[in-house]
Amino acid sequence: MSSENPDLAIAQAATLEPIETIAARAGIPAEALIPYGRTKAKVDLRALAASTPTRSGDGEHRLVLVTAMSPTPAGEGKSTTTVGLADAFTLRGRRTMVALREPALGPIMGIKGGATGGGYAQVVPMEDINLHFTGDFHAIQIANNTLAALVDNHIQQGNALGIDPRRLQIKRVVDVNDRALRHVVIGLGGPLQGVPREDGFDIVVASEIMAILCLARDIHDLQRRIAAMVVGFTYDREAVTVADLRVEGAITLLLKDAINPNLVQTLGGTPALVHGGPFANIAHGCNSLTATALAQSLSEVTVTEAGFGSDLGAEKFLDITARFGRLTPDAVVVVATVRALKMHGGVARTELDREDVEAALAGTANLHRHVENIRGFGLEPVIALNRFPNDTDAELEAVLAWAGERGFRAARSEVWARGGEGALDLADQVAAAFEDGGAFRHLYDPCDGIEASLTTIATRIYGADRVELEGRAPAQLRMLARHGWDRLPVCVAKTQYSFSDDPTLLGAPSGHVLHVRDLVPKIGAGFVVALTGDIMTMPGLPREPAALRMGVDAEGNAVGLF
Ligand code: ADP
Repeated sequence: MSSENPDLAIAQAATLEPIETIAARAGIPAEALIPYGRTKAKVDLRALAASTPTRSGDGEHRLVLVTAMSPTPAGEGKSTTTVGLADAFTLRGRRTMVALREPALGPIMGIKGGATGGGYAQVVPMEDINLHFTGDFHAIQIANNTLAALVDNHIQQGNALGIDPRRLQIKRVVDVNDRALRHVVIGLGGPLQGVPREDGFDIVVASEIMAILCLARDIHDLQRRIAAMVVGFTYDREAVTVADLRVEGAITLLLKDAINPNLVQTLGGTPALVHGGPFANIAHGCNSLTATALAQSLSEVTVTEAGFGSDLGAEKFLDITARFGRLTPDAVVVVATVRALKMHGGVARTELDREDVEAALAGTANLHRHVENIRGFGLEPVIALNRFPNDTDAELEAVLAWAGERGFRAARSEVWARGGEGALDLADQVAAAFEDGGAFRHLYDPCDGIEASLTTIATRIYGADRVELEGRAPAQLRMLARHGWDRLPVCVAKTQYSFSDDPTLLGAPSGHVLHVRDLVPKIGAGFVVALTGDIMTMPGLPREPAALRMGVDAEGNAVGLF
């Protein structure tokens, strides 16, 4: 054991089962397994389609979505709860699988840390999953950057399509939080070095190719979506697609392995598919549809997670992923913590470890809005109160009593300290929610137009009074209409800290205005991104990045990952 960090130390001390055993437990036949070492594998979707996997016996294929209240910067334990809840269902004898996003490297080096859960509720091998894993993000990065290079080369080689270098949509991407790359000039150095133009980098998780990988049904759908991607516009303002460049085949080829979901295990031995990873604040925030659909087809209970709160990942899961994938969630879990409640109740971030029952109760305004938001989709959520070591019984009891008085389903979750055993009550409440027979519905109909969809999301989910289109947004809206792209779902890029576009407005603000400064068509993915407030598609690193604490010990083991 090589680290003081409990998550890493627990993960390193665990004895992992061979991936073949995990695959057999999931019902994945040996011929569909492509092992990457002893404890990771890709599931070959083509081989799987040609075989007959052993499906769950009783015909139940329940889907549980885990979301959270508006978080503190460290996260409230959604991944931790997702994994622990799945292990609890496994302990209850239900055939269960997890579907999670792959962590992005950029934020791991910053504040946020990894995304494999924590304590005794983790997916393992934790170090591999958090670092380079099976190379999917690298493949996406290369596919995206190859496309960008092919576009610039087309312009260099005579620009037969008449691409306007000032109206390019495609940006290069890198999986590093590198603020210095947000705005760059490329092609300097004379005629042989390219055509100079302003450019900028995004983080990999914001790339349209990431979104496409996560929404494609299979490799053919992937190629069709890549062909439809709009890379830029001509001098006549006509759209230029990947199909116009005739390179959809090459880009798809670069992704032929990345499209296969990755199989790993939880500490409780539950099979877990960890695949794809768009951020929920700047992209649609859900793991791949192929992973969720595969897990659901194989198991009685699938537990999946969407990034951040009901205002971001959950809204996008329910309005975008579920729509494209025809998924119907059977239950939704909203993770809450005493520390996030206290923050929304007015306590400074540095004081969150001190007991403050009043502040925790004041912060329930934020949680209440998340509960109502999920109800807006026709689903009755279950609150998971994720217990942190410094929480006091008085605080936990007060929050559970608050929920009980309002008739909300709620349970303590102690999965971080106790693994699946710490969520048996939560699992029972989620199982009870399966029987609700809720009538799931999407929030808006994209056919009503982008502005109407935005207004519905802003007023019904964010508590805003109205939406204001600013900067480039009004002109972009006209452009979208001209091309017939104004009837697509919207993917709002917004801060995760507030229901509004102002990260400092905590609690449950109402009466505010949602400022949309740009509308970006992602035609391959099949949605339009609405950029709000100051949200950026290339994050930066903080003054004290987590990287300062990382390294390898004398035996070459990882140190400082969390
Ligand atoms: P999210 O998915 O909401 O971003 P994570 O599950 O990744 O949150 O957890 C964020 C961090 O908090 C991780 O380092 C995890 O180990 C830690 N954590 C989560 N729950 C607990 C808990 N109950 N007690 C202590 N630490 C926790």
